Amino acid sequence: MPELPEVETIARGVHARVRNDRITEVWFSSYREPFKTPPAKQAKGLEGRTILRVERVGKHIVVHLSAVSPPSSKSPPPAGRLPHAMAGEWVVHLGMTGRLLVTTPDAPVAPHTHARLTLASGREIRFVDPRRFGRLDFRDLAKGTNFAAPGAEPLWIESSDFAALFRGRKLAIKAALLNQSLLSGVGNIYADESLFRAGIRPRRPAGRLTRDQLERLRLALREVLEDAIRLGGSSVSDYVDADGVRGFFQLEHRVYQRTGEPCLVCKTPIKRIVVAGRSTHYCPSCQH
Ligand SMILES: [Zn+2]
Repeated sequence: MPELPEVETIARGVHARVRNDRITEVWFSSYREPFKTPPAKQAKGLEGRTILRVERVGKHIVVHLSAVSPPSSKSPPPAGRLPHAMAGEWVVHLGMTGRLLVTTPDAPVAPHTHARLTLASGREIRFVDPRRFGRLDFRDLAKGTNFAAPGAEPLWIESSDFAALFRGRKLAIKAALLNQSLLSGVGNIYADESLFRAGIRPRRPAGRLTRDQLERLRLALREVLEDAIRLGGSSVSDYVDADGVRGFFQLEHRVYQRTGEPCLVCKTPIKRIVVAGRSTHYCPSCQH
């Protein structure tokens, strides 16, 4: 399952390759599951639009699109609307096994390809997803609002906002970190790794942590995510280019899935427990 750093890295890689390109033609597979918006409606929304920006929002990739500008139009755009104003969004959720690739039309089409977006530059964006838990959605901004993640953004959240998320909450801090309505996109690996770096036990009630502990946690979470994004940057070009299935270069885990192995700081064996139904790893001596 792609985690936040992987989604961020893919979004940056795709952005660098297709920004300002225009979508000329769209093909979709006949499977139903990947299409949150019906394929015909999505195709109508995508064709003829220019890609203004690609970015991560939570664990989604959002492709910001311009209004359609007819190539032969002699009349100026309607008053109040800039020719390149953002007018639509193509929202991609990778699900468990989804990949967003930038390739050329002649590259062999992988099995389980569900979308091919032909671009004016001669490139092609493809969405490939064997298990079909990924979702493609088109949002017409004239009819609705921008896509927004339900929770706060862990990379940019400020100290006081972070502390406020957990105030008065009785649930375990690990469960709170995974709660997508509080923070968007924090997965199991990064929850465990940030709690280790902050020296906090996963089962501590979130509302009982001190301001200092919460600040350590906020910084640790940002640090592990940024480390992973930095590492991912070196492998992303393979990941988003044609046959780039080498995968994402993972952060070296200090506790995650190291049950029974010595802690890298104090050599105490790492323990595994279950919190919020998720496998949880921590050092009983470094984390309090
Ligand atoms: Zn330790």
